[in-house]
Amino acid sequence: MPAILETQNLTTNYRTMRGWVRAAEGVNIRVEKGEALGLAGESGCGKTTVAMSILKILPQGGTIRGGKIIFDGTDLVPLSENEMRKIRWKGIAIVFQGAMNAMNPVLKVGDQIVEAIRTHEPDVSSKESWERARKLFELVGIDPERVDNYPHEFSGGMRQRALIAMALAANPKFLIGDEPGTALDVIVQAQTLKLMRDLRERLGLSMLVISHDLSILAETCEKIAIMYAGRIVEYGDAESVFKEPLHPYTQGLIKAFPSIKGERIRLTSIPGQPPDLLRPPPACRFNPRCPYVMDICKKVDPPLGKSGRGDHLVACHLYD
Ligand code: SF4
Repeated sequence: MPAILETQNLTTNYRTMRGWVRAAEGVNIRVEKGEALGLAGESGCGKTTVAMSILKILPQGGTIRGGKIIFDGTDLVPLSENEMRKIRWKGIAIVFQGAMNAMNPVLKVGDQIVEAIRTHEPDVSSKESWERARKLFELVGIDPERVDNYPHEFSGGMRQRALIAMALAANPKFLIGDEPGTALDVIVQAQTLKLMRDLRERLGLSMLVISHDLSILAETCEKIAIMYAGRIVEYGDAESVFKEPLHPYTQGLIKAFPSIKGERIRLTSIPGQPPDLLRPPPACRFNPRCPYVMDICKKVDPPLGKSGRGDHLVACHLYD
């Protein structure tokens, strides 16, 4: 299967007064057409940096310092801002967390969707755009007549759905969900991800879904990549990563989350703190927190490589 999106050794850092914050380094991810990849890890591990790098919407100080982002056969890294405008929305769209902040509170939700359609497809008439906005509402399970409502008239879950409708306004090929629904309760969060999964099947979309909750990703995506301190440390089929995690960090991450369906077990947290990415630990960045740390872990950086279980990849010396 051809990849619709692939990052090759993507390295994005933030310039600060104290030096470069090494937020994402040597990141390789691959999403095939019609596939969903889940990207998991603790807050601050670089997941959102990867998403913002793909769209080239990094905050001030953020710089792509190396690597490639191949979307539909084109490397996005050297593209100008004008060229990127043609890729955003029509090629790749993003749904951020915090639906209230992402919408203009003084404009009707329908107006915001119509504006998105007409900005990216100026030939579409106003009447057609409103018709499309209503259809998008229907697609995401909101009564089409509510296009005339303001954001504050929607519940949190509806706002999140409306944001997804807005992201789909220009018929993108690729959708990024950055912690969609995280600020909402678990039921609405699960409904949002179910909606994304349904839309993927109905529209043939490809997706990158970012979350700190591995169990949600396992239900939504075919593949999962685990990120720790700016690096991908494990990658494979969702079922394989979730049921038989190989990297000590992934094992800790799974043990730290309660299972609603499974047996009741005592939750354990991963000892220590995520590292300061201004000065990450040498070699394996997980070494100060790892219960299996060996001498080699502090000297040699383990590459993401074969684990002996098909396509399941891991960056850990336990599998050398
Ligand atoms: Fe632990 Fe070493 Fe594996 Fe890193 S490389 S996760 S420190 S065993």
